Amino acid sequence: MQPPAAGDDARTRAPLLTAAPTEPGGTRSAAQSAYAISTRGLVKNYPGPDGTTVHAVRGLDLDVRQGETYAFLGPNGAGKSTTVSLLCAIARPTAGQATVAGADVVARPDRVRRSVGMLFQHSALDPDLTAEQNLYIHARLYGLRRRHARARVTETLETVGLADRRRAPVRTLSGGMRRRLELARGLLHEPRVLFLDEPTTGLDPHARAQVWEHLRVLRDLHGSTLFVTTHYLEEAENCDRLGIIDHGRLVAQGTPLALKSEIGDDLVVLRTGDDETARQVVGRTVPPGLVVTRDTEGVSVRVPDGSAWIPRLCAALEAHGIAVRAASATPPTLDDVFFHHTGRSIHTPQPHRTPAAPAPGATTQATEEAS
Ligand code: ADP
Repeated sequence: MQPPAAGDDARTRAPLLTAAPTEPGGTRSAAQSAYAISTRGLVKNYPGPDGTTVHAVRGLDLDVRQGETYAFLGPNGAGKSTTVSLLCAIARPTAGQATVAGADVVARPDRVRRSVGMLFQHSALDPDLTAEQNLYIHARLYGLRRRHARARVTETLETVGLADRRRAPVRTLSGGMRRRLELARGLLHEPRVLFLDEPTTGLDPHARAQVWEHLRVLRDLHGSTLFVTTHYLEEAENCDRLGIIDHGRLVAQGTPLALKSEIGDDLVVLRTGDDETARQVVGRTVPPGLVVTRDTEGVSVRVPDGSAWIPRLCAALEAHGIAVRAASATPPTLDDVFFHHTGRSIHTPQPHRTPAAPAPGATTQATEEAS
């Protein structure tokens, strides 16, 4: 998932492209720039094979507030990297408007590029140079004067917890340290908005947690706006808001809590000695209209306040002579949210996933073991 090079889309530039209304100089008014990122009807088409058109981004309306940590979730090919490329003014939209850090991506791409930091999956670090040398070169490339560049290198190394490794050649650093060094590189020019494309992919859980710890410091101390694409639902869970993109369209957006609340009821799963009969008994016990399913996980039903239903269902089953081996009530997870909006799980592959089954690794709110 890498951003296309700036030249990729030259053939697809639309003459009808409309730039957002701006003040002289391409900047937005104070009211308009209350958002760090704002898009309206953003579209990006690529030429596909045999004269077809790939609709990578189809009319995106997005508002990300200053200082917000926003997760962008979507399956492969959904349009996440293309969106990031458009927002960083690396690629040019086919239609629509986007303002990032107060500047229009079409009218003032140079200004946008200077205001954003980018952390992409591919490393741009020279393994033979030290951490400090890598950062210094980038600081100079960004146009920082020598003394300022040296000061920023020291500061950013401290921010990402690598001050004591500043003289270490990059090739001697662990994967997590390199990722943090890339983060430092993205921060050198004090960007107002930081784009992170799958920032922790390939890292072990400890290194992943460390990267996030530093991202949280950035957000809390500097009020940085972070736009993060990720496949890790637990990372999205920690963001202020998240958007789910599928086939180039934003299909859901909100805080993790609000999105999960929309799904509503808890998932109750019962494993019994006779799941088929249990399914019928549960169907007669819960209010009419609720769908009771049976699969490899057991008998499942979505009900409000699932943990309160478990003793009632167990009593009904035992009254029919059916032994209950395990019972759980699970509140909706972000994977349920993702599944609800895209029709598939974000975990791939996932052979046993059905709409009624609990997500693997889902937090169990209430679990009762019965014999
Ligand atoms: P994601 O980041 O969610 O995996 P992408 O933004 O990379 O998705 O891709 C969205 C769609 O656009 C995919 O169908 C992809 O094949 C297509 N695409 C991306 N970049 C180009 C390009 N430079 N030329 C043609 N098609 C592209």
